[in-house]
Amino acid sequence: MAIIVLEDKCIGCKLCLKACPFDAIDMVEKKAVINDKCVACGACIDACKFDAILREEGEGSEKDLSAYKNVWVFVEQRENKIMPVAIELLGEGKRLAKEIGVELCAVVLGENISDLAKECIAYGADKVYLAQHSLLKNFTTDGYTKVISEMIQAEKPEIVLLGATHIGRDLAPRIAARVDTGLTADCTKLEIDPEDKKLLQTRPAFGGNIMATIVCTKHRPQMATVRPGVMDKAVADGKRSGKIIDVAVNLDKEDIRTQVIKTVKADKAVVALEEAEVIVAGGRGLGKAEGFQLIQQLADRLGGVVGASRATVDAGWISHDHQVGQTGKTVKPRIYVACGISGAIQHMAGMQGADVIIAINKNPDAPIFSIADYGIVGDLYEVIPALIDALDRVDD
Ligand code: FAD
Repeated sequence: MAIIVLEDKCIGCKLCLKACPFDAIDMVEKKAVINDKCVACGACIDACKFDAILREEGEGSEKDLSAYKNVWVFVEQRENKIMPVAIELLGEGKRLAKEIGVELCAVVLGENISDLAKECIAYGADKVYLAQHSLLKNFTTDGYTKVISEMIQAEKPEIVLLGATHIGRDLAPRIAARVDTGLTADCTKLEIDPEDKKLLQTRPAFGGNIMATIVCTKHRPQMATVRPGVMDKAVADGKRSGKIIDVAVNLDKEDIRTQVIKTVKADKAVVALEEAEVIVAGGRGLGKAEGFQLIQQLADRLGGVVGASRATVDAGWISHDHQVGQTGKTVKPRIYVACGISGAIQHMAGMQGADVIIAINKNPDAPIFSIADYGIVGDLYEVIPALIDALDRVDD
């Protein structure tokens, strides 16, 4: 698909110029000319009163996919610290790049972040695109979208991965629209098709009842966001070497419509479920909000944190940042203790990657037992105190 201007109909009124959100139209000898920033959004077609702009469709207008190479990972940093999901994506990106036979590139934006480039190389990047600018110090949707979209248009990566964090979920669809490609959000698995080397992007669909594998066939890059905690973290190797490319950032104050006046950290400590080695999670089987005190006791005893099923969050027994599952967090602890949780598919989608799953449920047919390594059939109000007692006795 491409946008074309019919020269004989264009009267040079500049209405299209004003309507274009991407600065993708130039005036040349009083005629509108589409430049390579065009994403074919069609705003100019709607604005033109003279039917002088058309959308040209057809085989000849398809993108040349062979020009796209390399796997890019957006390395999200906050206060100059790489987010854990970016380390997971560097590990995954390395594996994908190896299968295709291309390079893994990290993309880092911020101010005074040169040190992060070396970290990215240690985690597997062959190349690091470092975009530093005072206007990139804080994340803004406009600023980051513009810089990354322009880098993609110039360098043409074939795959771009972002973490499905608040920032990644905001940024990825805007970049995808800007560079005229598709996006698979919230992927839980990425593979390379052995035949045509396309990216197979798998994510839960239809309320988590099926897993859909999505392929981006006609556009590039192939873009995906990946939920934190799903992929294994890359292991750092300080001896690796790589290339650092300083990106010439083309950004003005006027490009950014929002202004970060102040950053206020949440006064409540955020529950670090994704990082936890041990999670003790409570479900509707607790019967009441106070039941979480018992869950907390076992979690404290095991040096873990408290997780929850959605049923308990919906009931208002515990806050959403404890929720594990499809619409909560994806976790990969060494030990996951599910107490009074039935094992709905949407819950299991978030915790089945745990090394060891222990389920406590009074119903021997509860689905959670199908994925549990150890199952205890019984009332959690009897089983958990007995477990705590037993742990105390071991220590004595
Ligand atoms: P229940 O299914 O009611 O299970 C309670 C269990 O406790 C039962 O198995 C029962 O036998 C047992 N029990 C009762 N009393 C005791 C006792 N005294 N001792 C021991 N066992 C006892 N759910 C999530 O968890 N996370 C999500 O992210 C999520 N996302 C969703 C997204 C969508 C689009 C949809 C449609 C649903 C989602 N759900 C999610 C909801 C999910 O389908 C289930 O409804 C939910 O997980 C059930 O929570 P539960 O296991 O705590 O409750």
